[in-house]
Amino acid sequence: MTKKVIVLGEIRQGELRNVSFEAIAAAKKMADGGEVVGLLLGDNVTNFANEMICYGADRAVTVEHPNLQAYTPDAYSQAVIRVIEIEKPEGLIFGHTALGKDLSPRIAAKVKSGLISDAVDLENNSGEIIFTRPIYAGKAFEKRTIRGGLIFATIRPNNIAPLDKKESRTGEITSIDVDIKDLRTVIKEVVRKTTGGIDLSEAKIIVSGGRGVKSKEGFELLEELANLLGGAVGASRGACDAEYCDYSLQIGQTGKVVTPDLYIACGISGAIQHIAGMSNSKVIVAINKDPEANIFSIADYGIVGDLFEVVPLLIEEFKSV
Ligand code: FAD
Repeated sequence: MTKKVIVLGEIRQGELRNVSFEAIAAAKKMADGGEVVGLLLGDNVTNFANEMICYGADRAVTVEHPNLQAYTPDAYSQAVIRVIEIEKPEGLIFGHTALGKDLSPRIAAKVKSGLISDAVDLENNSGEIIFTRPIYAGKAFEKRTIRGGLIFATIRPNNIAPLDKKESRTGEITSIDVDIKDLRTVIKEVVRKTTGGIDLSEAKIIVSGGRGVKSKEGFELLEELANLLGGAVGASRGACDAEYCDYSLQIGQTGKVVTPDLYIACGISGAIQHIAGMSNSKVIVAINKDPEANIFSIADYGIVGDLFEVVPLLIEEFKSV
């Protein structure tokens, strides 16, 4: 059975996030030959609508309003609910990002529908949509079958491959006017913390530090390695609690969930709460001076040694290639 599926394009610092393109690929599977519609909310979003089409959306819908320039749950919910009323889709897909996690359950509850969160894959079995999602902090995966009704889902970044970008793809872009009103919050100013250019949840390479890094200066060493590799810096909660780095870098059960191609864990013991956020990384390298550290149980490559000796050697090596 073919379906119409809407994908919310997520714009961050003037760019569409990769997870938006991954969501289009997921929506294609869900729609099974039906229509995938990119939805863009903001102030001036036509270019982004075109980009969604280049990545495989059949057409795009924009809602432009000054109150949609920065995300607020009130304004975005009003806009998406209006689009649902007009477009009458069978499915909506969001990224499993801070925005997607905040917005999707609000809208699903308002339209009295359910939500599958944090899906890492999905398949369409003759109209039944089967989602795969991690459970028990990533120790197992469950499959959930949805047989009908309006389906809301969030997909975990870096798990579903996007389609190739093709400039030759074309599609209609329509604009919908929404009377956004009675807002309880309005964004006056956005003040960003500077935590490096690459978004942790979408980074392909992460160099992550734990309490073993011992200081803020120790993290500068990890930053040097991450910059050389074109990656981002992450951290355990141990390192954040010790104030070696900002909590926005925390990876784990109560931090960010990441799935990079390469995760280099430096001075991290491998507590279950940390592993919950990074165990699905494609290749894990652990550097720890304790050969019994639990992180080695999930590492593909382990280096038993002092990170203050090993990391400078890696930096030297990568500089020379
Ligand atoms: P430690 O456990 O102290 O490990 C430090 C490691 O560094 C050791 O293995 C040591 O051998 C090694 N080391 C020391 N010096 C060196 C050196 N010079 N070279 C190489 N290795 C060295 N934690 C998270 O990370 N993320 C979460 O989201 C999270 N959520 C939590 C939620 C709850 C409800 C609770 C109770 C805990 C949570 N935790 C979380 C905390 C978690 O249980 C651990 O306490 C934390 O992950 C430990 O951080 P760590 O590995 O950096 O520190």
